[in-house]
Amino acid sequence: MSVAALIVAAGRGTRAVEAGAAPKQYRLLGGLPMLARSIGAFAHHPNVDAVAVVINPDDTDLYAATSAPFATRLRAAVPGGARRQDSVRLGLEALAARDAPSAVLIHDAARPFADADLITRVIAGLKCHAGALPCLPVTDTLKRGADGRVTGTVDRTELWRAQTPQGFRFDTILAAHRAAAQDPTLIFTDDASVAEWYGLDVALVEGAEDNRKLTTAEDFRIADEMLQRGAARSAASTRVATGYDVHAFGPGDAVILCGVRIPHERALQGHSDADVALHALTDALLGTIGAGDIGVHFPPSDARWRGAPSEIFLRHAASLVAERGGGIVHVDISLICEGPRIAPYRDAMRARIAELLGLGDGQVSIKATTNEGLGFIGRGEGIAAMATATVSLP
Ligand code: MG
Repeated sequence: MSVAALIVAAGRGTRAVEAGAAPKQYRLLGGLPMLARSIGAFAHHPNVDAVAVVINPDDTDLYAATSAPFATRLRAAVPGGARRQDSVRLGLEALAARDAPSAVLIHDAARPFADADLITRVIAGLKCHAGALPCLPVTDTLKRGADGRVTGTVDRTELWRAQTPQGFRFDTILAAHRAAAQDPTLIFTDDASVAEWYGLDVALVEGAEDNRKLTTAEDFRIADEMLQRGAARSAASTRVATGYDVHAFGPGDAVILCGVRIPHERALQGHSDADVALHALTDALLGTIGAGDIGVHFPPSDARWRGAPSEIFLRHAASLVAERGGGIVHVDISLICEGPRIAPYRDAMRARIAELLGLGDGQVSIKATTNEGLGFIGRGEGIAAMATATVSLP
């Protein structure tokens, strides 16, 4: 059985969105757009062969940025229609036009917490049924009411809360949607309703409480808080990496350390301004996201970096961390040299690095030591720097 996922992200829900804010599919949840979380659930599932997303044509740029990390797993985006069921039908037609799957999982982008087990249960439900609907029992007592008064109690034993992804044999749900489109007065709020109307056999499979639909601004706030607490707890979200660099002394009258000019009887030699401390720190930041080292991003063979201020390198590394949704928690630098004396410049160095990285003074540490007269450092031939960066990643 080949399985495609069709994610419906074309809607223009207004309940969760303030004026001027991004459409809710693209709002950040724990640092990632909601739609990226919905796509990821399917793109990373071993039994899902293809993923297609139906988008609002106004969101083309937002979608391009959001979907880039999944580019190799995604079919071309499908422009949606006026109603949800139109968007689904257009998505199914696009899947049919190229390598039609034998089964399709239709999922609302507004449910970003669909997990792998849930997806597996829905696929399994399709072995013996034309459709599989994940759902949960109703646990609250349900009342009928009118004019502010209770008029009755509803028997909840046969009632279920429907979720997505809803799974179907591909040919049958495509036929059902095509038939439903013939009568524009037919309005369905989910695809199981289309299947029922068409007379298909749809199995009930167990849904998941976490697989909530996010609709209101309050839903987003609660989900965001939940993710941030989870991220704070997860050790995997904290990355620590180190950097090391050495530069030799040559003729000159000052050194640049941590972006601060310090008068000295010699200067550090190097292709750039030879700020050994910022080079070590740049490598540490790159290390937290596995992005290689300073030489990969700024080759010494490139004439553009001759005499360049090393702040450029540090800012670039910080921007790469930010692009991954990371936040710098703390940086720590050790300078190892017999001279110049670092202590008089320590506060200026901390302030400069805090400014460059957008950190508070308390998040920046500068330490210095001599090499007790030993080795090349002890002979005053150069300065070494070590740096450690701590970054939290979503
Ligand atoms: Mg260097």
